[in-house]
Amino acid sequence: MSARVLVVDDIEQNRRLLNDKLRNEYFHVIMAVDGEDAIDKALAEEPDVILMDVMMPKLNGIDACRKLKNDPRTEHIPIVLVTALHEREDRLRGLGAGADDFLTKPVNDLHLLSRVRALTKYKMVADELRKREASGKRMGAVDLAGSGRASDPARILVIDENERQAKRICRYLEGLHQPISHVEANQLGISGSMVDVMIVSLSNEKLDGLRLCAYFRSLESTRDLPILVVAEPDDEKKAVRALDLGASDIVIKPIDSEELLARVKTQVRKKRYLDALRARLDQSMELAVTDQLTGLHNRRYMRVQLESLMKRSNMGGDPVSVLLCDIDHFKKVNDIHGHAAGDDVLREFGRRLRENIRPTDLACRYGGEEFVVIMPDTNQELAQAAGERLRQIIGADPFPINRGDDLKVTMSGGVSTIIAPDDTIDALMKRADDALYRAKSGGRNRIDVETADAF
Ligand SMILES: [Mg+2]
Repeated sequence: MSARVLVVDDIEQNRRLLNDKLRNEYFHVIMAVDGEDAIDKALAEEPDVILMDVMMPKLNGIDACRKLKNDPRTEHIPIVLVTALHEREDRLRGLGAGADDFLTKPVNDLHLLSRVRALTKYKMVADELRKREASGKRMGAVDLAGSGRASDPARILVIDENERQAKRICRYLEGLHQPISHVEANQLGISGSMVDVMIVSLSNEKLDGLRLCAYFRSLESTRDLPILVVAEPDDEKKAVRALDLGASDIVIKPIDSEELLARVKTQVRKKRYLDALRARLDQSMELAVTDQLTGLHNRRYMRVQLESLMKRSNMGGDPVSVLLCDIDHFKKVNDIHGHAAGDDVLREFGRRLRENIRPTDLACRYGGEEFVVIMPDTNQELAQAAGERLRQIIGADPFPINRGDDLKVTMSGGVSTIIAPDDTIDALMKRADDALYRAKSGGRNRIDVETADAF
């Protein structure tokens, strides 16, 4: 699918010009006539990139940019400010307001297309992460606290063979950030995966900037690392090539210190936004497979694991056994000692299971006071012995409840083992459940195994 670009300009002729250029490259173009219109269209049309004029009636481009970047519904959409050559102050203010990039009028075709492409790529990574978030959870503002705020100092690796220029770049960044030249980094053993941003000169001879861009993009650990390239003013082709190879942004020589700082800030903010999304995604994936009270795997995860073990076992692999455990008289614990005590018992039960099974076994909370231990590569006899051992560990020491009290707890268990080649999870669990029922009716605090006729 081609990217959707929102073009914002108060002058029709400018809009038409950008529209034609973008449509020629198969972008889908949406248009807005001022800042307010831009915000409405951004919310309604969810574009992938916004090209924003600065001087506009009603709401100007910089204020519109700030509003969009402060709204969790639109903060992830990259914005390119389109300014006149003499509007240097506007450019810096725009980057300060959260703009991701800028273009100068008259807009150069190559710059336009490379920037739109580079930003679209970033947006797609962010979209992918946002989409993968656990379903049903509404996407709110991304909390950057865990990954550092955009204003926190960034570690910046400067790769420039021209020593004087490398020193100058480091000097510009010092105070706000922690720059390090590649010579120093080499001596200290610091690699690309350990920094927040990389600045690469395209004038390098040995450390070819273009090759470095391609190389760092191809490595898993530096795939999303922002790379800022420093280009000669007369080497536009190389700069565009760098963007195509994955560079995040360009600084043209002579380097303007304020512009450099603003561009670094934008890159750091983007990286931290992606990091925060990733961290939250990891957390929500963990929530989806973990039982909150006991920290054991949940029933859903258990089924997924059992499914793949069963497939292997049914195809002639090693036997797999399950132990279905149930805490004896658990209802009484809740009735007599309260639900907080009930939770204490469940937590402690989960802890003892977890700490007394083999690393290859999986302990899961099956629901209520029922737990399941999956034992790969384990026949019925071994599984029964393991169940017996767990039963003794549960009954040996009383459980601490309600901060100070003790309670004697016992468990009953049923064991079943996969019978190749046509066993199913439901049949396996049913046999374990039948065995558990016999353990219960046989007096509790005991382990029973499935009987041959149960199958
Ligand atoms: Mg205008």
